Amino acid sequence: FEQWVSPVIMPAPPVVGTGDWATAVARAKNFVSGLTLEEKINVTTGIDIGGPCTIPRLSWNGLCLQDSPLGVRLAQNVSAFPAGINAAATWDTALIEARGKAMGAEFRGKGVNVALGPMTNMGRQAAAGRNWEGFGADPFLSGVATAATINGIQSNGVIATVKHFIANEQEHFRGGSEASQIYSSNIDDKTFHELYLWPFAEAIHTGVGAVMCAYNKINQTQACQNSKIINGVLKEELGFMGLVMSDWAAMIDGIQPALAGLDMNMPGFFAYGRGPQTEGNPDTATNGWWGANLIEMVKNGSVPEARVDDMVVRTFAAYYKLGQDLGYPEISLKDAVNVQADHYKLIRQIGAASTILLKNTNKALPLAVTNIKRIAILGSDAGPNPDGANACSDRGCSQGTMAMGWGSGTANFPYLIDPLQAITSHIQSIDPTVVIDSVLNDFDLAQVRTVSSLADTCLVFASADSGEGYINVGGNQGDRNNITLWHGGDALISTTAASCANTIVVQHTVGPVTMEAWIDHPNVTAVLYAGVPGQETGNAIVDVLFADGAQATNPSGRLPYTIAKAREDYPADVLYASGVGTPQITYEEGLGIDYRWFDINNITPRFEFGFGLSYTTFGYSSLMIAKTHYRRDAEQQAVVSSSAAASTQSSNATVSASVPASTITASASSISSSASISASVSIATNATSTTSASSASSSPIGQLGGPSALYSQLLSVSFRIENTGSLAGNEVSQLYLTFPDESGEPPKVLRGFSRNFLECGQSKVVRIPLRLKDVSVWDVVSQEWVVPSGTFTVHVGSSSRILPLTGSFTM
Ligand code: BGC
Repeated sequence: FEQWVSPVIMPAPPVVGTGDWATAVARAKNFVSGLTLEEKINVTTGIDIGGPCTIPRLSWNGLCLQDSPLGVRLAQNVSAFPAGINAAATWDTALIEARGKAMGAEFRGKGVNVALGPMTNMGRQAAAGRNWEGFGADPFLSGVATAATINGIQSNGVIATVKHFIANEQEHFRGGSEASQIYSSNIDDKTFHELYLWPFAEAIHTGVGAVMCAYNKINQTQACQNSKIINGVLKEELGFMGLVMSDWAAMIDGIQPALAGLDMNMPGFFAYGRGPQTEGNPDTATNGWWGANLIEMVKNGSVPEARVDDMVVRTFAAYYKLGQDLGYPEISLKDAVNVQADHYKLIRQIGAASTILLKNTNKALPLAVTNIKRIAILGSDAGPNPDGANACSDRGCSQGTMAMGWGSGTANFPYLIDPLQAITSHIQSIDPTVVIDSVLNDFDLAQVRTVSSLADTCLVFASADSGEGYINVGGNQGDRNNITLWHGGDALISTTAASCANTIVVQHTVGPVTMEAWIDHPNVTAVLYAGVPGQETGNAIVDVLFADGAQATNPSGRLPYTIAKAREDYPADVLYASGVGTPQITYEEGLGIDYRWFDINNITPRFEFGFGLSYTTFGYSSLMIAKTHYRRDAEQQAVVSSSAAASTQSSNATVSASVPASTITASASSISSSASISASVSIATNATSTTSASSASSSPIGQLGGPSALYSQLLSVSFRIENTGSLAGNEVSQLYLTFPDESGEPPKVLRGFSRNFLECGQSKVVRIPLRLKDVSVWDVVSQEWVVPSGTFTVHVGSSSRILPLTGSFTM
């Protein structure tokens, strides 16, 4: 990768079925050995949109693949879940998994075999159109959310698809239609592994069945024919055993993708918008890179038949692994089959749990209805889309409250509870005498002035939308043109604040927006950042604003990205214009994505990554770092206490990271210091400079996500949190690591988090594990994960910049 060139890695590694994939792969091989070439080819190619490939002779009805990462797309009687970015903003692994599970139940109920999610691109550019589909701008957070989502979806026997592999970080020049220019993401090997690959590795480690390769190029080679990333990284390095499918019409050649490791061509036709060579023509011979053409490639020797066999084996391996041969429901996307169950409850809960309190002066929030005489509710984002919640195809417009971005990452709303409706009914249920005024026209500032000067409480709603590049909304071709609020949001807020002493701002946005125009205005007493919450958006915001009903929620959402003071403060931006040839997007910031960049360059953000307030307060104490005991017998896990400010102390243990973790026999010891709030522990390694974390097996094939030792726990960090305020609530604790000086890492990187509920006055010990991978860096020379030797600093707290606890350990 160093010269922005993708090396050629061939031949494609055939699947090796090990562990809990062994039976599925063996069954798949057995099944595929009985197929004719034509039947095999059929499995590798979609038949247009909506048409599954089949093997009639064996009564196999093919697979139904359907979007999206937030619910079942283009279907009736399904739920519209909070977007991925909101799932991430909860920082709650159990809630994220519950969301995946509920979505999985809906995909299954509708007969969808393969769900086209989660999407886990990194949000490198704040304005990039599809960031809201994913899990934010940190690979660790994104990795946890990706794995939890997959676990949830696949627990229903649905094959999840992690996408888009890889470095698919903007919509302009993404390719996939008639576009002649497809951008190349140029990434160095270290950045590639430590940031962009990380969540995909977690996905594979947890057993994801499918990967979707992206439209864009990586280091000059298009993703679906990039043998380095499919053969080399996915299938060899990460030991992936499932299938790799193309993004829709992403292929730009027939032979190269087959040799590079692509297993399934979706949806089968060449390209969108090319007359007869497009959707609506299911003749694969005239209309697709594969289909009948793949038979020809095999016959003329361009593609070995063994490669085709492996494509089909991988597809059936995923099918058997998820148990889909055992009575899978019929396809019923447009039918009356109602799969919503009681998912609205979880949708509301996640909507509230993902709401981030950014500002709250003089305890402006929570609101008490009994204190309100007259309230003004302002902004089109408070109200309904006048044309109906699903009026715009794939949500491709910006009217009414923003509860979903636009594009393929959508689902139809079964209904949409807007904030105005929910707040009105909540207030009226408590005190019908409260006067409620609303102005939904963002530009009628005279009326805004009038009602806000009469009100004791003003709620201003503002939004910023984005989506996929095939739809243009208000001049935004997927990616946002700017990172300010839409519909004159800044003017709306400033106008309100000028006449209303208690102006509370609620924002529904797909990503960061700048708020310098009004954030410090003394009349802006509170700001809530509610993201992209789905069908229950109004109820969810009521639960946070008032925190008084059965679903009262004390906010605990945390930013999954940095909100900068100025757009220029971010390390990278969308490439909107390019000359002839391949648009080149070079990741010059390297490891400096999002908060890492702000830390490296000492830039003060408006709100840092991980930030979010609560209606209560939390105290942190008693940091301890302990070597994880790999022997189960608890009594050996002695904890040594020290009252002094801890200095680095060496234990007798030798942790050799180059052997499988199960054989590590650390005689555990840890040093704790309650007073100084610092702790240290030392681990001796048997290497001079660095310890190879992945040389446990020189051939990682068969180990999902890379050498399994990487995923074993090495250390346990514990600390005490206490609810020191006057309201029960959740606290999201975060663990950041500073690597030893010479390792070239940014000042701190997230390596753990935990969300915990505490009653007033309650305290609790929180434990966060650190795995071998979490303390490793990618070594570009040896091409493996290594543990740098030296002292690591552990920081624990409530955001990436509020880190009251510090400790250290030495490797
Ligand atoms: C998107 C994918 C989606 C596919 C099928 C493409 O345009 O990039 O995310 O799964 O369409 O709708």
